[in-house]
Amino acid sequence: MNRHQMFKELTEAFGPSGYEDDVRKIMIRHLEATTEVSTDRLGSVVGFHEGDPRGPKVLIAGHMDEVGFMVKQVTKQGYINFLPVGGWWPQVLLSQRVKVRTRKGDFEGIIGSKPPHMMKDEERKKPPEMDNLFIDVGVVGEKGAAEIDARPGDPIVPVGDFSALENGVLAAKAWDNRIGCAVVAEMAADIKKGLKTHPNRLYLAASVQEEVGLRGARTLAGLIEPDIAIALDVSLAYDMPGGDSDAVEKFGSGAAILVSDSTMIPNIKLRNFVIDVAESEGIKYHLTSLRGGYDTGAIHTTKIGVPSLALGLPSRYIHSHVSAIYEEDYVALLELVKAVVKRLDAAKLTEIANFS
Ligand SMILES: [Zn+2]
Repeated sequence: MNRHQMFKELTEAFGPSGYEDDVRKIMIRHLEATTEVSTDRLGSVVGFHEGDPRGPKVLIAGHMDEVGFMVKQVTKQGYINFLPVGGWWPQVLLSQRVKVRTRKGDFEGIIGSKPPHMMKDEERKKPPEMDNLFIDVGVVGEKGAAEIDARPGDPIVPVGDFSALENGVLAAKAWDNRIGCAVVAEMAADIKKGLKTHPNRLYLAASVQEEVGLRGARTLAGLIEPDIAIALDVSLAYDMPGGDSDAVEKFGSGAAILVSDSTMIPNIKLRNFVIDVAESEGIKYHLTSLRGGYDTGAIHTTKIGVPSLALGLPSRYIHSHVSAIYEEDYVALLELVKAVVKRLDAAKLTEIANFS
């Protein structure tokens, strides 16, 4: 399987928060390259590989879940009212395709609303409200709805195909955060090839329920009790109309090192160490901050504290049906994580976690 095939499989997989089963199956297949695969009781999955039994426990994690929806109720006419799962901006929902998963299987539908022809002038000027949107799966009336057996709580995801655009730009749904899963998968593949030498106990993980509040990361940290943690996720690119032309965060600016987000201030020694590694290896990187949180927000306060850092890559149009990344930035992120893991040994942990 080449890299684009892996991207396609991961991004097109069904996996809203709490319903990550399909993505987990894919990740377990990748993580079988490690020596031991286990799960916690919320559904996060981790592959373990021992480089040095005296080395620190290093956790590298990306989340499997994507923003989606769930069935709120089915109307008498057979339409589905829905609730958001994760952060959505209703403007991006109109006329989009979705997949509803019920006990009878997967059903494709479209998010509908009244066409402008039926709206009064005032109504036409306003953005849509989520409450007024509905999903049309093509069934008619209660009897039709009974055939697909949609029930409150059934999960729904956007439908979107992976595609390579011009110039190394890759479009797909759910780059947030199958891109983190992809890095974890490629690191596991390196172990299989025997390429990985690392002076630590490495935990390659894929977490659940990040989009609803970093919930899987918390239990994952409980399972592993890591000494050092790095979360991988998307960060923002500002190089678009209406963005910020002065911003360093753009396609081609390499791996993102998060100096701050809404949930964590990173360990500064770990942050500086990662910057030094990027510079000595000639890996493109930039520093950024973000409103929002990464899995490390939940991990770093585990027990006595876990020195942590979040790494990302610039992304456009996230939390919608189609987002975009730049392949070279992905490669920079992958190379940076690999280079860091190669150097995280017992002495480095002492240096990073020493506050006396
Ligand atoms: Zn994310």
